Amino acid sequence: MKQFSVNMSDPYQVLLYYLYTPIENPDKFAKWQTDFCNEHDLKGRIIIAEEGINGTVSGTKDSTEAYIEETLGLLETSKMEFKIDSNNGHAFKKLSVKVRPEIVSLHLSKEQGIKPEEITGERLSPEQFLAEMENEDVLLLDGRNKYESDLGRFKGAICPPIDNFRDFPEWIRENFSDAKDKRILSYCTGGIRCEKLSGFLIKEGFNSVAQLDGGIINYGKDSLAKGKNFDGQCYVFDQRIGVEVNSTNPKVITACRRCEISTQRYKNCAYKPCNLQIFICEKCESEKGRFCDENCQLSACSAK
Ligand SMILES: [Zn+2]
Ligand SMILES: [Zn+2]
Repeated sequence: MKQFSVNMSDPYQVLLYYLYTPIENPDKFAKWQTDFCNEHDLKGRIIIAEEGINGTVSGTKDSTEAYIEETLGLLETSKMEFKIDSNNGHAFKKLSVKVRPEIVSLHLSKEQGIKPEEITGERLSPEQFLAEMENEDVLLLDGRNKYESDLGRFKGAICPPIDNFRDFPEWIRENFSDAKDKRILSYCTGGIRCEKLSGFLIKEGFNSVAQLDGGIINYGKDSLAKGKNFDGQCYVFDQRIGVEVNSTNPKVITACRRCEISTQRYKNCAYKPCNLQIFICEKCESEKGRFCDENCQLSACSAK
């Protein structure tokens, strides 16, 4: 590996990427990724499995560009797309590289597992997704967790009340089976979860399933769709918490839990056993503390 010196005056970038592609030796690949990231001061979260790679990292422009080039080279592909945001520093505190059985999991048995290269929903570009969304007969299905869709979602979307992606199969079987003849448009943050979710829907007997290619992040960057009809912010799994999507008809849909003023500040309740993610305005936080309610506030005080 050639010597690399980090130029701290460089602007920072955050990368978001995934690819379903066979990785023969995930442990070896993980070791390589770890070494490369440490050497280039890249931080973030990378998951590697035999089915592919899923990651998000931050670093200087030079470092992230070197990472893209090296990763594509190692995977011997040019097919992986990187969504790139500029940022004023690292978006992560540390680096975590993990080898897992799957890069995202619906916790299905090996026989029932979804292989997106074999079965997945029709991929729609942002413009196609937008055009179809305006048709009243379609159902928009949010493929994320409730704490994500709470911060922002497409107008009129169905947002399952789940806390973990693996809860989708049960929720769909119990609550969504009536929709098998409808046109379903699914979406998630960057597209990775929909590859499996839409495949699962097809396997369950849904007749017409499509997914937003590249997810909400790509939709927000698209020069034609410009994030249209996405309300609120897109939840991201780094220190930014939320990113703007809609530059056409944006709307804030969240309000402070304590005083109901409009806010997108999304924080964890400071009473550790609670730790619930709550919307709380700056004023309420400074006056009453970062708590969901008086109960958490009192519990936190008496625990001291
Ligand atoms: Zn408030
Ligand atoms: Zn609380």
